[in-house]
Amino acid sequence: MLREAALRVTRPRVAVLNAVHAHPHADTDSIIGAVRRELPGVSRQAVYDVLHALTAAGLVRRIEPSGSVARYESRVGDNHHHVVCRSCGLIADVDCAVGAAPCLTASDGRGFSIDEAEVVYWGLCPDCSTAGNS
Ligand SMILES: [Zn+2]
Ligand SMILES: [Zn+2]
Repeated sequence: MLREAALRVTRPRVAVLNAVHAHPHADTDSIIGAVRRELPGVSRQAVYDVLHALTAAGLVRRIEPSGSVARYESRVGDNHHHVVCRSCGLIADVDCAVGAAPCLTASDGRGFSIDEAEVVYWGLCPDCSTAGNS
């Protein structure tokens, strides 16, 4: 993946990419923890820099639901959406509402050339909604 994106293959980059693959929607701290299990000496700044480079190269997508810290995932390019639990912050992937990205077609695009739509569904996850009902 790194070579395809014309990025030099370094151990921190591989470790960060592995961590994002293994923990979808992880925040930076969890990613640093996972990377350090593989590469104990890596600095926070190094992980930040790698996340930035991977995001810029399109290998990783950064999402930031309001009220949440930035989170990263390796599922990119499909314009999928997210459902976020208001109570515990759990995030899950949601496919486009109808098939393949029709929600990119705004009713009035105001002349913009639109390439992404960001939709966040808010609610309660199954665990939290059960807890609230009991
Ligand atoms: Zn929840
Ligand atoms: Zn996702």
